[in-house]
Amino acid sequence: MSPRQPCRSAEPGRRVVRPPPPTVRAERHSLAPGPQVSCSAASPELRWTREAERRGPGGADRALRIVLIGPPGAGKGTQAVRLAARFGVPHIATGDIFRSNVDRCTPLGRVAKRYLDGGELVPDDIVIDIVSERLAEPDCRHGFVLDGFPRSAPQASALSRRLDELGTPLHAAISLEVQEEELFQRLAARARADDTEQTIRNRLRVFAASNHPLLRYYEQRGLLARIDGVGNPDDLTELVVARLKDLMARPITERRRSTEVALASIVGR
Ligand code: AMP
Repeated sequence: MSPRQPCRSAEPGRRVVRPPPPTVRAERHSLAPGPQVSCSAASPELRWTREAERRGPGGADRALRIVLIGPPGAGKGTQAVRLAARFGVPHIATGDIFRSNVDRCTPLGRVAKRYLDGGELVPDDIVIDIVSERLAEPDCRHGFVLDGFPRSAPQASALSRRLDELGTPLHAAISLEVQEEELFQRLAARARADDTEQTIRNRLRVFAASNHPLLRYYEQRGLLARIDGVGNPDDLTELVVARLKDLMARPITERRRSTEVALASIVGR
């Protein structure tokens, strides 16, 4: 791919308008129904299970609200497209939104270009605004698969606030994990304009710096599933779906409790 042409005039001060992100719409895939809840007692855990069945993966309306976390080259995009199609929710990739704006030389594209070219993160306020507006679109009513956002703990907490406002909390954060050497080979084999050797190295460095606090943010909230991202993409999709169902089958309070126990044992208490 040839390097991107520079935009004719930069207007960094101008406010950015939401770009039309690529949306994946597909037939809803039929999933095996979750376990039946026949007991009429209304304990919080049972109520949660009913709610998860009604709204969560495999439930009646197959809502799915997840974020995919992982370094560049981990296969987030591939898995995000598949999961979005399977659950009939939009795939929202912030990197695609930025690239599309750069290619069209929009005001957002002119601002974003220098960050993309350098492998740096676009400032939080810009990306948070874009995602917040996108999540209010009607096609996100039954959920979304966010790919490439959040990339830092401040972005994650802005997302949580936004979802709280909408009354639609996140179901899970899936972290796809791949060793750096393998990533470098995968990225070098791709032909994207921001995949030069220097940019790749910088993007991996930027990822490493922000990823730990991001994982911790979701781990503490009982939302994190870490998955080995090496292997056949089909198998990986099935693994992700299985982990999602696993996660959803456990009440959030229990997930948080087990995280607290694990963290406490790490610090020796
Ligand atoms: P990606 O396609 O996800 O690898 O993203 C490509 C580029 O878009 C990144 O290197 C960043 O410059 C920018 N970008 C995408 N998502 C974000 C985000 N959540 N925060 C900041 N910058 C982002």
